[in-house]
Amino acid sequence: MSNDETKEFLDSLPELEEGKTYNFKCYPGIKCFNACCSDLDMVLTPYDILRMRKALDKNSIDFLRVYTVGHRAPDTNFPVFKFRMSDSKARTCHFVTGEGCAIYADRPGACRMYPLGRATRPDGKGGTKEQFFIVQEDHCMGFNEPDEWTGSSWKQDQGFHEYTASNDRYMNILARVREDGRPVSDKMSHMATLAMYKVDEFQRFIVQMRLFDRLEIDEKRQKAILEDEFVALSFAMDWFELMLFSDTSKLKTKNVPTRSRGQK
Ligand code: SF4
Ligand code: SF4
Repeated sequence: MSNDETKEFLDSLPELEEGKTYNFKCYPGIKCFNACCSDLDMVLTPYDILRMRKALDKNSIDFLRVYTVGHRAPDTNFPVFKFRMSDSKARTCHFVTGEGCAIYADRPGACRMYPLGRATRPDGKGGTKEQFFIVQEDHCMGFNEPDEWTGSSWKQDQGFHEYTASNDRYMNILARVREDGRPVSDKMSHMATLAMYKVDEFQRFIVQMRLFDRLEIDEKRQKAILEDEFVALSFAMDWFELMLFSDTSKLKTKNVPTRSRGQK
């Protein structure tokens, strides 16, 4: 599903309103164990990919080739990478084992939130408002269990909070491109693949192209960006906000005046 299709899908599901609860528990031994880990049509975020790559100790080129299928979103022309299932008849996830998920600690955000879907919208005050939806599939027997959850308590329990900052930022960039009404150029789309989905390659690009020479960025941060891919991904988003929207709130260019500085 593209991000738009995901939104449409979530909008078609019953919303779990704030403070409302649902019953659910998933554990090894439940009759349907692993039934949800096949035939998935799931978009992976840049942060999902980075977490999985680090868990598997794979470089980005190999990871994207083996575990994803890429295309460009028609509305934004941004790259979209979907989770590639195995070629088996059941199209199982590459990471499902008899004991459960082989990359459980670094599983994608959507796997963490299941059986809830999560959507965010601008709250009108510069932040985001989140909504939860119940994805009740026939094969999932976890809903017959007595444990009670709200959207927030489930999110906390599943460690999804580690994913929100990066994922919400990325979704916000896509929303701003959509609001702008013009898909990004192919060159910018290619750059988005490099900066956000191939962060290890992006670190090399930064050095080769002497990118820091053109930016106001202190040495301590430069070092962190080149040493830590999670810091580099956050920097990639700052850089995109600067390039796409002339947004200098997190990053500024040296000498070259930007629209935000020069215009009201
Ligand atoms: S189908 Fe539901 S209960 Fe069964 S393993 Fe998947 S999430 Fe757990
Ligand atoms: S990554 Fe793990 S939790 Fe997600 S579908 Fe694959 S096996 Fe299941």
